[in-house]
Amino acid sequence: MSKPLVALLTGAGISTDSGIPDYRGPNGVWRRDPEAEKLVTYEYYMGDPDIRRRSWQLRRKNGALTAGPNAAHRAVAELERSGAAAVRVITQNVDGLHQLAGMPARKVLELHGTVREVVCTDCSVRGSMADALARVEAGEPDPPCEVCGGILKSATVMFGEPLDPVVLSEALAIAKACSVFLAVGTSLQVQPAAGLAGVAADHGARLVIVNAEPTPYDEIADEVVREPIGTALPALLRRIGAEGEPR
Ligand code: ZN
Repeated sequence: MSKPLVALLTGAGISTDSGIPDYRGPNGVWRRDPEAEKLVTYEYYMGDPDIRRRSWQLRRKNGALTAGPNAAHRAVAELERSGAAAVRVITQNVDGLHQLAGMPARKVLELHGTVREVVCTDCSVRGSMADALARVEAGEPDPPCEVCGGILKSATVMFGEPLDPVVLSEALAIAKACSVFLAVGTSLQVQPAAGLAGVAADHGARLVIVNAEPTPYDEIADEVVREPIGTALPALLRRIGAEGEPR
């Protein structure tokens, strides 16, 4: 018997136990404060050096860079390590906590990029956020790309930037191929990520939604779990792992 492919789409709700607030959600900081939203909007960021200087100062205080994985992240990595199932993570989060919990990076698709890296908006070279922030600390308020002198930004998808089409097509392929699709800690209100749940269900996957609030996909889900993710997800994944073991 071949291993089942278990796909997880994870959103802000899986990281709140790690102390990371939901910045991007409908009630997130960015949506409530237009001035704050400018700091993460591509057009303003590229056009205004003052916005960039303020963005770098904000990144210095970004809790996602110092946060650690929680029980839910660890449970996902444990299922992958157990070998009982093939596991792929599609995440809307930019905190890198799935990988820190032990998920191999190649098995994690970051739809919105990562705060742990920077990217040059001109030559696309990538580097570590920690190195860039060290340059800010050392007195460069808006550190340019060391290769070409271009504008550096966090390797996250800002407002006004498209999602990476390669990442998106890989996510779609996983949604179509998986036998179980778990949507965890996401309100399933932001497309195209939310649509992956529908694609998975249309292709015969068992759809499980783990989220405190109702989602637009609850009606087509095979199972809806409202309990806290930190306890509900590890239990759910242990069950899936037990079902998936060859008999
Ligand atoms: Zn460059």
